[in-house]
Amino acid sequence: MDCIFCKIVKGEIPSKKVFENDNVLAFHDIQPLAPSHVLVIPKKHIASMNEAEEEDKELLGEVLLTAKKVANELGIADGGYRLINNVGSDGGQVVYHIHVHVIGGEKLGGLNV
Ligand code: IMP
Repeated sequence: MDCIFCKIVKGEIPSKKVFENDNVLAFHDIQPLAPSHVLVIPKKHIASMNEAEEEDKELLGEVLLTAKKVANELGIADGGYRLINNVGSDGGQVVYHIHVHVIGGEKLGGLNV
């Protein structure tokens, strides 16, 4: 499968990892939109939230809790941050492997990610 984030999971494309376990991976976005911008993904390929199934609910919960953990480790949690999941082309999704953007480190205005 020609998925850039699956290649990052397999180590075929380098990434600046923030957190990893058997189920999820967090790494710095290549084009940060704020001082802190990390992507959290499940290692399992799910194209978007629209393709998520009932069986994925525990995994997606782990993605969200990992996003919280990452925000704390980045030191942006006290000030506040934003979690974003773009779905489909009108939603601004570019990479079709589900991911949550963790964005913060400054006062956030309107963002298009
Ligand atoms: P989307 O618009 O929600 O699909 O976000 C995709 C994000 O992936 C964008 O913010 C990109 O900058 C980011 N991205 C694309 N390729 C890479 C990469 O190779 N490493 C890290 N981030 C990437």
